[in-house]
Amino acid sequence: MSDSLDLNLLTVSSARTAVQERQITATALVESFYKKIEAEDQPAGKVNAYLTLTRERALRQAGKIDEIADRGNPLPPLGGVPIAVKDVIVTQGERTTAGSKILGSYVPPYDATALARLEAAGAVVLGKLNCDEFAMGSSNENSAWGVVRNPRDLTRVPGGSSGGSAAAVAAGSAVATLGSDTGGSIRQPAAFCGVVGVMPTYGRVSRYGLIAFGSSLDRIGPLSKSVKDAAILLRHLAGPDPMDTTCAQAQAPDYEQEIGKPVRGLRIGVPEEYFPAELDAEVRNSVESGIDRLRDAGCEIKRISLPHTRCAIPVYYIVATAEASSNLARYDGVRYGYRSTAGDTLSQMYRRSREEGFGPEVKRRIMLGTYALSAGYYDAYYLKAQKVRTLIARDFLNAFRDVDAIVTPTTPTTAFKLGAKSDDPLAMYLADIFTVTASLAGIPGLSLPCGKSSDNLPIGLQILGRHFEEGTVLRVGHALEHAQSAG
Ligand code: GLN
Repeated sequence: MSDSLDLNLLTVSSARTAVQERQITATALVESFYKKIEAEDQPAGKVNAYLTLTRERALRQAGKIDEIADRGNPLPPLGGVPIAVKDVIVTQGERTTAGSKILGSYVPPYDATALARLEAAGAVVLGKLNCDEFAMGSSNENSAWGVVRNPRDLTRVPGGSSGGSAAAVAAGSAVATLGSDTGGSIRQPAAFCGVVGVMPTYGRVSRYGLIAFGSSLDRIGPLSKSVKDAAILLRHLAGPDPMDTTCAQAQAPDYEQEIGKPVRGLRIGVPEEYFPAELDAEVRNSVESGIDRLRDAGCEIKRISLPHTRCAIPVYYIVATAEASSNLARYDGVRYGYRSTAGDTLSQMYRRSREEGFGPEVKRRIMLGTYALSAGYYDAYYLKAQKVRTLIARDFLNAFRDVDAIVTPTTPTTAFKLGAKSDDPLAMYLADIFTVTASLAGIPGLSLPCGKSSDNLPIGLQILGRHFEEGTVLRVGHALEHAQSAG
């Protein structure tokens, strides 16, 4: 491998350029990433971001890219860029587990659209990334395949549920990754690991081939080292898909061009509800200095209120669990994955397969969701939650009449210690207090690093925008990143 290439520093464009200019072949680049993963990710006690290495697939794709580059032809836009995807995104012919024992040996017969689009643009998929089981969690401690550790401090959680996706970027074991976000699962681990994570507008990126958790909330999005990388990836991910009828018809703009536009004159809302008295002081200070930088860059800062924020956690945990209980009914030991050998009758086989195949958090959610949807409780819980969800969405619509983007902390604290909340589901659920609102409202959100705590842990700042205005969100993020690197 070329000595001048530091895998930890590679970005989407620098990786492509290195391959195009033959500083390294795509094949050698893939091999160097696998060496790094074997040394720094897989050994016991290390990060554990990768569940499956898709070596043959990666080398096949790298070979195609090398042929193009050898002939001196221009590479496709993501040509030779090594990426990895969360294991809730299905891959044809490659094991896809969703972090669950129940899908432990599941090999899908098709590719998710999001992944197929990145590959069609030349990206090389190194493997599948660890996550909380069925994307349920905030710490990546719910995976059937072991916890993921935060590369910034191996005694701490990387966040969840896309913990593997955030950790792989932070550890430099992929240039960028795909995660999924239902209530915060891209933004929260991005904040904990000190990387950029983007949750696009609901319907902006096809969900075809995303293993369903809460179908009205689930979104696929990129995690990367920079806002620019996220903008490049989102451009290729976004757009209509005949395989997903909830995917919007609108064509996506060129986000790379969008981030180049000036932010001067943009109105930025700062909602009081996201800066409660109990907020960690270091988180508050970092986010406030981020806001000051945006003011210095010419943005107009406005104090705003999103009054229904306090209802967001209960509403989210009713809607998401209700949808999950329905989506997870398909895992019965017959059509997918794990089947228990115990039990004498068909119904015992169903029960035992689910009993043995699902972990405790998934069972808890199936029970909560089934309860919220059951006759007699539906109106009191599910229907009521949907009404309050509308109020939360309306808060944003009202706010976006006066402001172009909203800035908040991504999380109330920095990354916590492994095990610190695993016995207390309610404390764990509160880790998403600043992310679930945008999930319920369907609007886009981005988290980017905005400083460090005194114990050197990353702090994340969240930027929210109007429906389908990822361009503005990315633009504000890019401006802030620029201001931060200028000191
Ligand atoms: N942590 C939240 C939950 O456990 C969000 C998960 C997600 O976004 N997939 O539901």
